[in-house]
Amino acid sequence: MTHFRFIFIVFFISIFQFSSCADISGSENGNAHIVILYTNDEHGWMEKNNDSDGAAGMFGLWKEKEGYKEDGNFLILSGGDMWTGPAISTWFEGESMVDVMNAMHYDAATVGNHEFDFKIAGLKKRLKQSKFPYLGANIREKSTGEIPDFVVPYIIKEIDDIKIGIIGLTTISAPRTTFPENVADYDFIPYEKALNTVIPEVKKAGAEFLIVNGHLCGYEMNALASVAKGYGISLIMGGHCHEMYNEKSEGVTMVEAGSFMRSYARIDVTIDKKTKEALSINAGLRYNRDARIDTSIAAIVSDWKNNLNTYLSEIIGYTSIDISRDSDAMFNMITDSWLVTFPDADVSLTNVGGIRQNITTGNITLETMVGLLPFANSIVRLNMTGQELKEVIRSSIVFGGMTMTDGYKLSDGTPVNDDSVYQVLTTDYLYSRNDFGFQAADPNPVRTSMHYRQPVIDWIKSLHTSVQNPLNRYLDYVPRR
Ligand SMILES: [Zn+2]
Repeated sequence: MTHFRFIFIVFFISIFQFSSCADISGSENGNAHIVILYTNDEHGWMEKNNDSDGAAGMFGLWKEKEGYKEDGNFLILSGGDMWTGPAISTWFEGESMVDVMNAMHYDAATVGNHEFDFKIAGLKKRLKQSKFPYLGANIREKSTGEIPDFVVPYIIKEIDDIKIGIIGLTTISAPRTTFPENVADYDFIPYEKALNTVIPEVKKAGAEFLIVNGHLCGYEMNALASVAKGYGISLIMGGHCHEMYNEKSEGVTMVEAGSFMRSYARIDVTIDKKTKEALSINAGLRYNRDARIDTSIAAIVSDWKNNLNTYLSEIIGYTSIDISRDSDAMFNMITDSWLVTFPDADVSLTNVGGIRQNITTGNITLETMVGLLPFANSIVRLNMTGQELKEVIRSSIVFGGMTMTDGYKLSDGTPVNDDSVYQVLTTDYLYSRNDFGFQAADPNPVRTSMHYRQPVIDWIKSLHTSVQNPLNRYLDYVPRR
């Protein structure tokens, strides 16, 4: 949730010109040729929008530009974080996204932190629905030390007569970057340790060529490159940091393909069939734009959109300006609305990573609000001393009822006193994170069971906004830090 770092490392100078002359038949000169089409951090962005042609556009590009054929030498892989994003994905707890990815013929997906957002039961429902397996070689049940039944450590796919071993690695940040209680029963063991265990197994199972499909950031792939090389692995794919990343280190190609279905990677791997060694690996990152829309995928997305409209088309307000997800107006609106719903509380705190979309000019619907605040988080109320309150404030935290522009002061101007006790609202997600001090401050919080978006919806509705009386008149634009 907190990993919202749009670090667009622009290393994709190596734009790989392969589209017009792609020979995907392979097998010439005794070499195998495999094409990997790769996405990560899709986060449910299946609809066409200003930044992307959506899932239907991407599949259209794969068919038109990459020469994708179902019976061709293709591997279609996801680096994880498939859902939790716009309402069309979140409202259905990922079901719509799996539907789309099934139709796009994904071969496997690595489990990211957000695959746990709807608890293990939610993840298992999606797995049952998926026509492709979920990978995670470094997840262990705390009770048994075994790999849990909702993932496999690897799969082997035979393509162009080469048995490709695809090993999954899940981000070790998962206990902080999804709801901590959802993964409380699992350990996420270090990547290198997991590889040491799984590689002999995957080789024994017959894999001839190994690749790593990880929900790993660029810096993590880099740190793993020499270990990978030692095992003869020459390709690592990543995710989680939403980077456009295409680099080589120690002869290992490392690729991360952005996020939100805005882009994908095409990776061409040529393997000597005798030695099973890579002769070449060429990776290119491409944007999902100007596509010929695939009508079958478009029809699936459109069905889910219609389904969504039966729940979330209600108009709750109107704004005549865009309200950016990372603006003071947005932070203040969200945190202040909690204090309207819980007027006895002094301060409200949430993390910017839980605020995921802009509100654009025009009507504001429930769908907007679900996309804005998509996580299954509820508000908890706890007592904290002024000292404890100051200690939980960091750059990722925004707040209502308080400012820190001129020392810590409550909204009425009273300085926050280290020894005084304040009633504080936050999410159960932040409360559960053991790297914050909420649990130590108050081990018995009141769990309100109110969803963190509900007060915002209630507040906007209460204003009866319209074209003549837009929401933006009521916003507080003043920074609090
Ligand atoms: Zn992630």
